[in-house]
Amino acid sequence: MSLIAPIVYFASGFLISFLFPRLPIIMITRGRGFNTAFSPHPEPIQLSPKLTQRVLHMRMIYWMCFFVATIPLLFGFASIKWGNAAFGFGLWISSGWFILSRLQSFTGGQKPPWTLNMAQRLQIVMDEIESESKCCNEPIPEWQVMAIKCKSCAKILDEMPRPDLGRKRQDGFFLGGFRLLLTDGYPVIAADLNGSELIDDSEE
Ligand SMILES: [Zn+2]
Repeated sequence: MSLIAPIVYFASGFLISFLFPRLPIIMITRGRGFNTAFSPHPEPIQLSPKLTQRVLHMRMIYWMCFFVATIPLLFGFASIKWGNAAFGFGLWISSGWFILSRLQSFTGGQKPPWTLNMAQRLQIVMDEIESESKCCNEPIPEWQVMAIKCKSCAKILDEMPRPDLGRKRQDGFFLGGFRLLLTDGYPVIAADLNGSELIDDSEE
């Protein structure tokens, strides 16, 4: 009996169920019409109520993916029971893993790439530049890759690395999409953050 066929079925089930729940993040907001209020990727993005709203939308889509993942989970279950067991198992493992990894954020695991707290911090920065304690006379806060900085005086207003913001990616749909699959929307440089902070300290 050949083992190749079940392996191929398993792998295709696994792949389908890997891609399926991630598609909304890759697809929904990427169209040109969705991003007219923002500078093109990967340029810094100016803070505005629209940007705060985008963060909240990305957060909503992120959690929507959680429910989207239950579709291959159910199909996988049905396939194990009545159809091709290897294919169903592939579907089931991959979507089950996806759901479990997202549930982790409730038990102290990694926070989602877009959070309510993030939107609140954007709002705080915007409130601050309207207040007495603003950084300079003409503050223009913009979200750069590593932090929110003022374009006029270069002061760091919030040390919050920029996640993917749903803009059409400069590296194109396929490569950009692939990158999103790898990073899941998290800031690409988050892993280096501690290292670069150490360098900054030593320079002071
Ligand atoms: Zn400033």
